[in-house]
Amino acid sequence: MHAALEDHDKGTPVKQWKDYFFPVVRQALAREPDHKSWLSGGAPDSPDQGDAWMTIGPQCIDNWKRFTSGVFQVDAVELDVTQRLPGSHLKIKGFVDRLGTHKEHGRMIVDIKSGKNKPKDKGLQVKVYSALYMMTSGEVINKGAYFMAREGVLSKVYEFDPLETLLDMGKKFKAVAAEIGAGDFPAKVEYSCRFCDQAPNCFAFSGDTPRTRYYDPDNPHHVPKEEKIPF
Ligand code: SF4
Repeated sequence: MHAALEDHDKGTPVKQWKDYFFPVVRQALAREPDHKSWLSGGAPDSPDQGDAWMTIGPQCIDNWKRFTSGVFQVDAVELDVTQRLPGSHLKIKGFVDRLGTHKEHGRMIVDIKSGKNKPKDKGLQVKVYSALYMMTSGEVINKGAYFMAREGVLSKVYEFDPLETLLDMGKKFKAVAAEIGAGDFPAKVEYSCRFCDQAPNCFAFSGDTPRTRYYDPDNPHHVPKEEKIPF
């Protein structure tokens, strides 16, 4: 989907949906022919979304075309904003999906989401992009939103205080750098755990099980790896 929208915004003719979708599916099939083993993104009763995407894909493209033909003018595509933030020595890699001008909200950052659920990060991702962009260009852009491609609408438009954003985000990454330096990686159960293929081995997520006893040193009943695999 991102490749198709990028072609559209760069003025390259948009191909048929299957010409974006099938090569990716073929590549994945070459690595794992049994598609039932792939990481799945659908609901538990219908995990395989492959066929559904034959409809969702073209819909997303149409929705984006509509959005960018009257409401939102694209000024930059996949903008590299890799930069350091105040107070942090870490260089943060960042590519802004779109920077543009919204009819109502003015200059803003837009991140395109193909998923069904709105991100639960309260705008953190676009806030980080905003800080990185300000550091890279010197221009203040203090608005951002997620474009929910399936529905063709923006999520809530987040507005940030520019100075506070720079300092807050710098502080956040400084704290991350300190955690990395200390080798301190506490497991936190959150939304993304549902996509984690280590979930059955993770004590935080699965609790005390034979697998987590074997694999996860955080399990108080952790057994040394040399012992016979207990499952
Ligand atoms: S399931 Fe465990 S290892 Fe996987 S993301 Fe969640 S906390 Fe981390």
